[in-house]
Amino acid sequence: MSASKVSSVVHWFRLDLRLHDNLAFRNAINEAENRKHVLRPVYFLNAEKINISGINRLRFLLQSLQDLDDNLRKINTRLYVFKGKAVDCLPNLFKQWQVKFLTSQVDIDPEVVEQDEAIEKIAEELDIFIVRRVQHTVYDFNAVLRKNNGSVPMTYQKFLSLVQDIQVKEVIYINKQISDCCKATDFDCKDFDVPFLDQLIANDRTNLSECKYPGGETEALKRLDMYMSKKEWVCKFEKPNSSPNSIEPSTTVLSPYLSHGCLSAKLFYHRLKQVENGRTHTMPPVSLLGQLMWREFYYTAGAGTENFDKMVGNKICTQIPWGKNPEHLKAWAEGITGYPFVDAIMRQLKQEGWIHHLARHMVACFLTRGDLWISWEEGAKVFENYLLDYDWSLNAGNWMWLSASAFFYKYFRVYSPIAFGKKTDKDGLYIRKYVPELKKYPSEYIYEPWKAPKSIQTTAGCVIGVGYPKRIVEHDKIHKENIQKMSQAYKVNKERKAMKRPRS
Ligand code: FAD
Ligand code: MG
Repeated sequence: MSASKVSSVVHWFRLDLRLHDNLAFRNAINEAENRKHVLRPVYFLNAEKINISGINRLRFLLQSLQDLDDNLRKINTRLYVFKGKAVDCLPNLFKQWQVKFLTSQVDIDPEVVEQDEAIEKIAEELDIFIVRRVQHTVYDFNAVLRKNNGSVPMTYQKFLSLVQDIQVKEVIYINKQISDCCKATDFDCKDFDVPFLDQLIANDRTNLSECKYPGGETEALKRLDMYMSKKEWVCKFEKPNSSPNSIEPSTTVLSPYLSHGCLSAKLFYHRLKQVENGRTHTMPPVSLLGQLMWREFYYTAGAGTENFDKMVGNKICTQIPWGKNPEHLKAWAEGITGYPFVDAIMRQLKQEGWIHHLARHMVACFLTRGDLWISWEEGAKVFENYLLDYDWSLNAGNWMWLSASAFFYKYFRVYSPIAFGKKTDKDGLYIRKYVPELKKYPSEYIYEPWKAPKSIQTTAGCVIGVGYPKRIVEHDKIHKENIQKMSQAYKVNKERKAMKRPRS
């Protein structure tokens, strides 16, 4: 029997690398079984996006795909992995496989939306029925936007008020054996297997660190269980009291699992509700459930705002005349600014792919309105490369917040690269780990090593300007100048807005 004579149903896995809470995949299975079609769960590995800097995330993705394939095989199907963009591969597969039905998840990243539109056109011509479901968030962001008359809720509280009476449906689990008749003849073909990292990135593993957060649904559910069993910890969780510079993370690190869809936000929501039920607990915005709501808030804003990941053409973003300074940007990205706390954070990001939320605050403020006066878009690109949890709307939304470009307006509240870290790590253990050149510095100087007398620098085995860089800017001076520039930019924006307002 040749595969081409049989019709098929495709589920296109994207940011939903899981079998729980995957209604779109359930639809595909049902359709295939009812019509006795072949079932093809596919993933398109975009080779263009594979580069060395993002190697930790690529590893996370491959681990997640491998776990997905393992789990699919347990229910008598498999994952078909293709190297290339969906928009290039799918049209051929549509014909070759006689595809009748295509299911996938709704995504709002404009690059993906563009692909979706192109694919939709081709599918329409071939009479392929498409089902796309919102399943990356707790709430359907389009429904939330409609509830707000089509406009973006600009505050977290407003967002909460919009969703408070929305019932969140229970999650479904896919664990039933799929009928043999849905198996393709090429079921055992190795060409579609999940590739190994070595097959994608030849020889160069220098940027690959030890694997602290392995990818996959199995690991995600384990991690979720582990945190949900700590009921008191969950109920007392207050984000501002967690530490940006603890050696082990002070928050859940569920973010990479949520962003890849190894963990469903809805499942996380229900588990948190279960833990909170009948117990005294903290509340949004600081509670753990409150954190998940920040995610929903930014998704809704991202879905409702054109050019959300850009300054120009983005109507919620304050226009700020950022400067350009490639050397400073490079020093920031590589963790060689001469400010040990900033550098430790950027090096942890590069090595491990995850940094604490307040650590992100520190470095984002430093790059933009605090010290370097470089556009948040540049910072967002660096984060996109390195973060395991990179997520289009969360990254852009938070960068706008931290640069006081949208959502947050107290631009005069600047993080000090010296005082901020000291609050939770007086002796700089975190700095000692990620900036080992300074390991032997006395605690007194660990946040400002340039202040150490030469003799101490020599005894500590690291002379500033030789073994560790001199500061690229003087925070005390520059942040005050930048506050003035912000104030000016706010004034200009206000005037611009007033001019645009129609006179009555
Ligand atoms: P927890 O505190 O355990 O929170 C649980 C979950 O809530 C997180 O996994 C996450 O999904 C969600 N959440 C928590 N804080 C936020 C927040 N501020 N905004 C949106 N969702 C939140 N998060 C990403 O997932 N992807 C990104 O690309 C991203 N870029 C960021 C860029 C900047 C400049 C900043 C300041 C923050 C960014 N964040 C991003 C938000 C936040 O820092 C991370 O979600 C969080 O630190 C993840 O760690 P956790 O899972 O331990 O969080
Ligand atoms: Mg992009």
